[in-house]
Amino acid sequence: MASLAFDPIRLPPECETLREEVRAFLSEEIAAGTFDPSRAGHGDSHNPAFSRRIGAKGWIGMTWPKKYGGQERSFLERYVVTEECRVANAPVRLHFVADRQSGPILMKYAPEHIKMDILPRICRGEACFAIGMSEPGSGSDLFAAKTKATKTNEGWRINGTKIWTSNAHIADYMLALFRTSPPTKENRRHGLTQFLVDMKTPGIKVNPVIQMTGQHDFNEVVFDNVLLPDDCALGEVDGAWKQATSELAYERSGPERFLETFYVLVELVRALGDKPDTRSAEGLGRLAAQLHTLRRMSVSVNGMLQAGKEPVVEGSIVKDLGTLWEQKLPNRVRELAAFIEEGETNRATLEDQLAFATTIAPKLTIQGGTTEVLRGIIARGLGLR
Ligand SMILES: Cc1cc2nc3c(=O)[nH]c(=O)nc-3n(C[C@H](O)[C@H](O)[C@H](O)COP(=O)(O)OP(=O)(O)OC[C@H]3O[C@@H](n4cnc5c(N)ncnc54)[C@H](O)[C@@H]3O)c2cc1C
Repeated sequence: MASLAFDPIRLPPECETLREEVRAFLSEEIAAGTFDPSRAGHGDSHNPAFSRRIGAKGWIGMTWPKKYGGQERSFLERYVVTEECRVANAPVRLHFVADRQSGPILMKYAPEHIKMDILPRICRGEACFAIGMSEPGSGSDLFAAKTKATKTNEGWRINGTKIWTSNAHIADYMLALFRTSPPTKENRRHGLTQFLVDMKTPGIKVNPVIQMTGQHDFNEVVFDNVLLPDDCALGEVDGAWKQATSELAYERSGPERFLETFYVLVELVRALGDKPDTRSAEGLGRLAAQLHTLRRMSVSVNGMLQAGKEPVVEGSIVKDLGTLWEQKLPNRVRELAAFIEEGETNRATLEDQLAFATTIAPKLTIQGGTTEVLRGIIARGLGLR
């Protein structure tokens, strides 16, 4: 059986200096009314002007080479920026997916002229990306994707439908998996290719799918005879399955995987005040210890990425434990808040936050890979199946 390796990595001192800078910037943004950290779900999570200001600070594509607009800083420094933005509920929707995973994929597989064109725009907070993997009938089982890319003399013709595509309605580009050949007998994962799609290409229709909260975050995307240029096929034609796995450690291990309902914990601390009863104090302490552990694990995975490793199993464990924790948090907080008086001002804000967090909680263990699927990956990685 293989073993797990969470290297005991801590954030180095330069991260704390950066943390102060990020906090000061976010405080100015809050003071200027760009967003309200205590009103989760009420503001717009997508703010082009804010993304540009974050970009101007050098906090998007931080780890990327300078020739592509990056800063050549460490994954641990990027960790700090992500963590501070998440804790503050800052509107990062426009640039976050591109920063986390689309940019790194382009860096590995796109031709140089595409990298030189798009990566600097991502770093400036000007390019929004969507991920086109899921389809009706192919979610967890990515390799069942049917949306077809057919090679023609003019380029690639795309026909089919993607679903649950976050950001597609605001995205400039999508990185999508399309079927370029049927699977083979020996390898059912064969036959998919990763493509860069300019969302302005004729024939793409984006239909909204509204969430329980009433928010419009994701979509159905229909491709009707869409023509893409040859250089939009990224990496090996038919071999996308080889490209997919290393991406997962980036996608699954960050602090965004346990901080999505964090605001209810902050609001609970505020509502309990500085003299909580023993039961609440004990409950708070337990939650803080769990959060601290998740954070150490996530920092460790980021440190391993920095060291050039591919901690796919460890990243999946962070996502599994982290999303279950953030999913249970609203209920736990509700129990601990039971003795705070009705009508108390902080209690009203807490109720508002809890209502929103409870409504989004179910999605947390689905997006980015379900609990069951992650456990399958972990078991396989440990040699248990
Ligand atoms: C908020 C949100 C945002 C999303 N954003 C995007 C996006 O931007 N781009 C994108 O491509 N997709 C996106 N998704 C889709 C998401 O990745 C899929 O919903 C997810 O992969 C599950 O696929 P499915 O919905 O088809 O469910 P299914 O795969 O049909 O799964 C149904 C149930 O069966 C279980 N199951 C499936 N396979 C196995 C297995 N092998 N072993 C054990 N249990 C299994 C699952 O755990 C689940 O409980 C998003 C989803 C959500 C909720």
